[in-house]
Amino acid sequence: MNATYSLSHLGRSVPVAPSRAQTAKGIDTDEDLHLTDQEICDFYAIPQQDAAGSDRAGRLHENKWQLRAQPNPDKIHYRSSEQVAGEMLQLQDKYPDLCQRVQVGTSTEGRPIWALRVTADARTDTSHKTAVVITGCHHAREWMTVEVPMHTAIGLLDGGAQGEPEARRRLENAEMWFVPVVNPDGLEHSREVDNMWRKTRSVVDTVVDGQRVQTFGVDLNRNFWDGNAETLSIWRPAGDQPGTTADDFEAGVDNPHTNVFRGLAPASEPETQAMQQLKLGRPNVRGALDYHSFGEAILYAHGHTAEPPPEIDTLVDIAKKINDAAGGNMRIMSSAGFYPISGGALDFQHVNGVVAYTMEINGCFQPDRSHIVPTCERFDQVNLKFIDEIVARAQAGELPARTVPERYRSVVG
Ligand SMILES: [Zn+2]
Repeated sequence: MNATYSLSHLGRSVPVAPSRAQTAKGIDTDEDLHLTDQEICDFYAIPQQDAAGSDRAGRLHENKWQLRAQPNPDKIHYRSSEQVAGEMLQLQDKYPDLCQRVQVGTSTEGRPIWALRVTADARTDTSHKTAVVITGCHHAREWMTVEVPMHTAIGLLDGGAQGEPEARRRLENAEMWFVPVVNPDGLEHSREVDNMWRKTRSVVDTVVDGQRVQTFGVDLNRNFWDGNAETLSIWRPAGDQPGTTADDFEAGVDNPHTNVFRGLAPASEPETQAMQQLKLGRPNVRGALDYHSFGEAILYAHGHTAEPPPEIDTLVDIAKKINDAAGGNMRIMSSAGFYPISGGALDFQHVNGVVAYTMEINGCFQPDRSHIVPTCERFDQVNLKFIDEIVARAQAGELPARTVPERYRSVVG
């Protein structure tokens, strides 16, 4: 028999869902069966004071919905994967010369993974132009990261159609790919079932530490691998053995119950493969921004080691420019400095010569709706600055050389 816990939310005392009783037990340190805000903050390591990259009220709010096991009703202010798909089709109908909706993959549950390719002469092959890829929602609960790529794409299209010189210039010079929802299965699960869901929704059936484990989902940003034997240790650190948690690296693990499960095999997830095909398989892709939440940080390679890459000066220089575009208050650091990860998208873009950043935005996963427009407008500036930097540096021959991994060489169009 589980105890019944309560918490205070939206001005009243409400029950914690029975399915969350185990978590509630861990939160309720004074064992009075009521979860105070301070106990919840202590459990989730939410700082007392708001700081750049930590929104105490927002984090409490989203965690309370999970403890109640109810959908976060703020979802109506954020796009679903179906809304994104529908809007992309409308944009293609409205601006057929400026964009094309492209299915770049299919999720585990059969949802299309859509990209919007934005460029002048979109009905023709534009692979001679410098390409940039901007993604969101590798992680299901990071709802704002869907909004930012959509907002920038729409702004470029509206501006280009109205003849704005800056938008026209970018459309002429760049092939801009926007993938707002890399993980559509996870996004729908986080909207409808568990608002703090992070991973994919693939079925995992395996044996760990001698125990059979059946669970759902892989952390996409621990699942990348470009197929080259010499980079396999970026996915699984040397010495780490599959099927045991005893040697797990702190943020890329073999335990499928964790939020950072790397998958049973490298690049096992169709969503991972879709992103690698797009970003690594197209040799004109020279830059990429992957939007995540949260922390207000611009992260560059590496994630799997504290060792800085040889291109560190270029990476920091571009990061400073996009930080200025964001208002100048983001932290600029290596991904490993933020926290170490194995199997991250960033490192596989980096080893193949794509100038890439992980953008950790806002102070929680599902900010109050009042943050949506300001966040999008702020990161529009970042995206446009990044596109300009990549195009200019590609033309000047200042970017790292691109390599295309063998397994991704077949498709260019
Ligand atoms: Zn993330």
